[in-house]
Amino acid sequence: MKKRNSTFSEGGHYAADLDAAPGERYDAELEELIRKLLLRLKEDPEREGLRRTPLRVAKALDFLTGGYGMTVQDVVRDAVFEEQCEEMVIVKDIEFYSLCEHHVLPFFGKAHVAYLPDRKVIGLSKVARIIDVFARRLQVQERLTNQAADAMMEIMQPHGVAVIMEASHLCMMMRGVQKQNSSAITSAMRGTFRENARTRSELMDLIRR
Ligand code: ZN
Repeated sequence: MKKRNSTFSEGGHYAADLDAAPGERYDAELEELIRKLLLRLKEDPEREGLRRTPLRVAKALDFLTGGYGMTVQDVVRDAVFEEQCEEMVIVKDIEFYSLCEHHVLPFFGKAHVAYLPDRKVIGLSKVARIIDVFARRLQVQERLTNQAADAMMEIMQPHGVAVIMEASHLCMMMRGVQKQNSSAITSAMRGTFRENARTRSELMDLIRR
């Protein structure tokens, strides 16, 4: 079985230990695949700088795709609370990092998540965790945005959810397909945010501040 390398810490994002100790073994099969990849790229996996690269890459890939081993229920646990709040809640500028499924290159940026509670609220730090569950997979930005919105709907049954994501894609930037500073914006609206234009424009006003 593959070891999962991501560890959760209370009150913050989980961090990866991507160092490689001499002689350390992690995932022999994956490390061998990466060694073969290095050979195929006409590199020498035995040279000093690359000797522990298969191990580090295996750990990095495991961490960056750690979302496959997580569920929204795992990360939220008991952080959904009864509360007589019906006002819009917005969590702005949540950093996220994901991998595009077409090139396995990073895309990263910021997410804004809003919801209209129906007597249930969620711990604010959990919103970023929910995004990580889906970001740490091979993704396309549109699906990531929709999955985050659907998860918020499922976990709280609020009146509505809005997720807006703005990201830079290295597969476009590094190939020069797009201007270096361009970014892609995606949104997913559920419930009131989809049905009510006034709710949407209230959201946009609050996000722009
Ligand atoms: Zn791509």
